[in-house]
Amino acid sequence: MGIRKAINDGNINIIVRGDKWGTQLDVSITPIFCVKCNKQLPELYEHMGSRYGQVGTIQCDFCGTNIYCVDNDNIVEKLCTTGYILDYYKLYKLEDEIWGKVKDVIEYDITSRHVGNTVTLDYVINEICQEFSITLKDNNYFISEDGKITKFPKSVTKWFDLLQTLSLY
Ligand SMILES: [Zn+2]
Repeated sequence: MGIRKAINDGNINIIVRGDKWGTQLDVSITPIFCVKCNKQLPELYEHMGSRYGQVGTIQCDFCGTNIYCVDNDNIVEKLCTTGYILDYYKLYKLEDEIWGKVKDVIEYDITSRHVGNTVTLDYVINEICQEFSITLKDNNYFISEDGKITKFPKSVTKWFDLLQTLSLY
């Protein structure tokens, strides 16, 4: 358990339930934001599990403030840090509705393909790109809606690229 500077690209798992729950996220790689400096920390962080919701503490690289991280002690859909909440559905643009939109544009239906399974975001991106002959630009720069997060995990940047290609970003 704990949270540390990421040493790999981490995983963004999509649990495809297919019932009223739709898709659920379980995220192990995250940006961290310091509200005192009003800046994103330079590196991404790897979430390694929690105990009773306590994930761990990160020290801001800029000001040294302790940033406490808490989750809901289950799958990681959200991370509450000191003064800032990371809601991965919103932050990574993986809310349930997006799959309906993707289906409308390219007839890719994540539910019929993967119901009952857990797939990584990377897997889904590769599947879509191969099947629909999409080449990603790979050089785009994205900013979160609140303007605070500018560095995202690699697979999320690829996902935004793909959404942009499909005119869904
Ligand atoms: Zn700081």
